[in-house]
Amino acid sequence: MPCIGFWLAKVSDHRTGNGVRGSRVWRKLLRVEQVTISGFSFEGDADEEVLVAEVHPTRSARGRCGQCGRRSAGYDQGGGIRRWRALDLGATKVFLQAAAPRVTCKVHGVVVASVPWARPNARFTRDFEDTCAWLAARTAGSTVCELMRTTWRFVTGVISRVVAENSSSRDLLAGLRRIGIDEISHRKGHHYLTCVIDHDTGRLVWAAPGRNSETLGTFFDELGAERAAELTHVSADGAEWIHTVVRQRAPQAALCLDPFHVVAWATKAMDEIRRETWNLLRRRGDRAAASELKGTRWALVKNPSDLTPEQRGSLASIATTNRRLYRAYLLKEQLRAVFAAKGLEGRQLLAGWLAWARRSRLPGFVKLAATIKRFLPLIWNTLNHRLSNARSEATNTHLRMLTRRAYGFHTAEALIAMAMLTRGGLCPPLPGR
Ligand SMILES: [Zn+2]
Repeated sequence: MPCIGFWLAKVSDHRTGNGVRGSRVWRKLLRVEQVTISGFSFEGDADEEVLVAEVHPTRSARGRCGQCGRRSAGYDQGGGIRRWRALDLGATKVFLQAAAPRVTCKVHGVVVASVPWARPNARFTRDFEDTCAWLAARTAGSTVCELMRTTWRFVTGVISRVVAENSSSRDLLAGLRRIGIDEISHRKGHHYLTCVIDHDTGRLVWAAPGRNSETLGTFFDELGAERAAELTHVSADGAEWIHTVVRQRAPQAALCLDPFHVVAWATKAMDEIRRETWNLLRRRGDRAAASELKGTRWALVKNPSDLTPEQRGSLASIATTNRRLYRAYLLKEQLRAVFAAKGLEGRQLLAGWLAWARRSRLPGFVKLAATIKRFLPLIWNTLNHRLSNARSEATNTHLRMLTRRAYGFHTAEALIAMAMLTRGGLCPPLPGR
């Protein structure tokens, strides 16, 4: 990059602590502390000019381990001069430039010394990273990259560092009483994450790659026997391996089945009937009816209260022209009503539902009735303890949305970091707010 650098201010001797004139104002503008600023230059061409501020940590901030911040003996000059991208000033890109010497930490060995403006191993300032993470938690990845003038690969690195720092300073597993355990597939269903959410706060508190008893065992190891004994309720889907581990590690906790999983089973059974019917109509050559049915999926899947007038119309038409599919729809909705009722009323409704499903002459629902019968004690626990469904479902929906986002996450760890950022309460505030 051609350097047209002209000095805005005279370089001064940082060892004496005298920075450029107006140093205090510049420190405020760049939001850096414990530094002296010895000079500025503009670099680049007319297309993209960047401002480079030459900074030096003050004596008290120098010679500290980049990992733990412990004062350490100097080792060497490391890789020489380095740059950290800072927040733009107006439309101008800003970099901080400083030496990056190495120190010998008693615990961490030879490491690059810490700098007051950035996290260890980062090429961006803390403010830049916090802004990136805040945006990533709220908006599309492409918008973050465009606005911050960086790449998604860098943003995922930023998210990992922010989450690692924020989770190390707090105990996410403290005070857990009612938790939900869920498995989420990613990478086109070839890989899985096991996730644990806190029903009381709605937060994601733990996630790890894999879906087996060993993975879940790691969660209980981290939780410890004492805190596992404090758990009162554990909800999950129908995965037996989850139930087995929970019965071993937290035998006192009431094991519940997450209602949204049960309703999802019913939706799946209904969808199969819709597909069968559609195939049948096509084979018969009834094209008009087939294409009409194709457009009804949302009418059948949505909550009745969220239906548009058109969708209400399609439902009414299914009720008259397709009794089998409409029966499946009613069974699905009735199962939702069971969980909305809860308690004794919920149990009574469920008994009625089981009898209805068994007599429904819909193979998918006869099978579902058998599955529900098998899990009946767990579903009764859900109904009796009035476990809220909304938060675990919201987290589940959000995680599925993350796994589907177009830009993708290269590793399970990057996906977990993003999930902890958005659902784990680990998102930093915007700088200066
Ligand atoms: Zn250290």
